[in-house]
Amino acid sequence: MRTTGKNHWHTPSKRPQHPKAVYAGLAIAATSAAVFAGWLNSNSEANDAAAIAASIEAAPTVAVEQEQLLANLFTNQPVVITAPTPTTAKTQKPNNVTATSAAPKASEPVATPTTEAAPLLWKTLTVKSGDSFSSLMERAGFSTQAWYEVISLGEATKALTQLRVGDQLKVVQEEQRLAALDFQLNTEDTLQIRRQQDELTVSTRSVPVERRTVSAVGKIENAFYLAAQKAKLPDNIIMELADLFAWDINFALDIRYGDSFSVLYEEKYQNDKKIGVGKILAAEFINKGKTFRTVRYTDAGGKTNYYTPDGRSMRRAFLRSPVHFTRISSRFNPNRLHPIYKTKRPHRGVDYAAPRGTPIMSSGDGVVTFAGTKTDYGKVVIIKHGERYSTLYAHMNRIGKGMRRGKRVKQGQTIGTVGSTGWATGPHLHYEFRVDGAHRNPLTVKLPLAQPIENRYRADFEAHAAPMMAWLDALNQTQVALKD
Ligand SMILES: [Zn+2]
Repeated sequence: MRTTGKNHWHTPSKRPQHPKAVYAGLAIAATSAAVFAGWLNSNSEANDAAAIAASIEAAPTVAVEQEQLLANLFTNQPVVITAPTPTTAKTQKPNNVTATSAAPKASEPVATPTTEAAPLLWKTLTVKSGDSFSSLMERAGFSTQAWYEVISLGEATKALTQLRVGDQLKVVQEEQRLAALDFQLNTEDTLQIRRQQDELTVSTRSVPVERRTVSAVGKIENAFYLAAQKAKLPDNIIMELADLFAWDINFALDIRYGDSFSVLYEEKYQNDKKIGVGKILAAEFINKGKTFRTVRYTDAGGKTNYYTPDGRSMRRAFLRSPVHFTRISSRFNPNRLHPIYKTKRPHRGVDYAAPRGTPIMSSGDGVVTFAGTKTDYGKVVIIKHGERYSTLYAHMNRIGKGMRRGKRVKQGQTIGTVGSTGWATGPHLHYEFRVDGAHRNPLTVKLPLAQPIENRYRADFEAHAAPMMAWLDALNQTQVALKD
């Protein structure tokens, strides 16, 4: 990648600048252009070095001001990175397919685009239990004819025959007839029915969701969660970040003063309004001086996963614990006295105390070999994972829906809930882990890595990962510069 002296941040500034700060700024300018080359080519396309170089050439300036960036890093504010002007992302207009040119927003009362002076009066109808489209229309005062007129529009209005409780329709009534109807089909699409020249027409209006990339950095002074909050990370990103590194870092025990993190994630916008948070694209965690990095990648086959920069999976083939937020109430112990029978009975698993009803997850991908009741285990599910491994989940309150012999399950999938069936003194999950048929301690057994990147996708993965890693480098250098 080329970084030239022509970069606009190199132009003489009135303010004296620390050389490192300038360097950090440069790195960010260069890498952000590179990253954008990647995004503008859409996530799946390979962004080779030529494309990146071309994009830097074409767009030497980036809309992130150095001052803003540095100020944001000081305050740990997420930095909004906007693409340079001649891009597709910013120029996208809502794709209005209605016949009229002025697209009314579904939620606002609007004037008719035609000549009538009277504004349309929008009314919201909410689907209740037992409602159908016809009963909903009737209750709102429409004639039977009105309902029929809509349904006659055909396939396009099929969604209206599949309404669910809580769905909302926005309608405009004209005597007993329908003048207009809006129904939100999904985040992006709204079904619109309009009366024009006495005829109803139907169309779909789409407002595309735009994804913007933001970054945040933080340094841990006491707790990870506090530092992440200070960095203005949304809660689900904080959880996801901890989950991503949970295989390598024990967040309850290993976090130290001075640990730090950087994260690139998406925010979702519609019509320039933030509507939510997307996924983590790349992240770094420095724990006790050791750096861990990850990047999200979707291969051409559609499989999405988080990998280390060299293409190993971030996750193991098994979760360390099949329940969230619980306390270990009894450990693996081959010489234990049984709590009920007071005889020497080895405890061949780990017990997790958890409230009744807490979801139990399959700790790995596999196939159910048993789902039913046993005297001692109570309601129990056994899962086989490949040739060598199997896991067992006992004392369930309920066995998950559809769990039966031969059923395929994914890692993290709920397979039942915590209970106290069988020989149990209180609600807990008894979890066993077997390797080649022998019981092993689930808390200490060496867990095999999940599948690495497939060879056929490696080149594409590397092209995707490189600019992400460059971004993390740039964020680091900025942090270093700030410390001096
Ligand atoms: Zn147990």
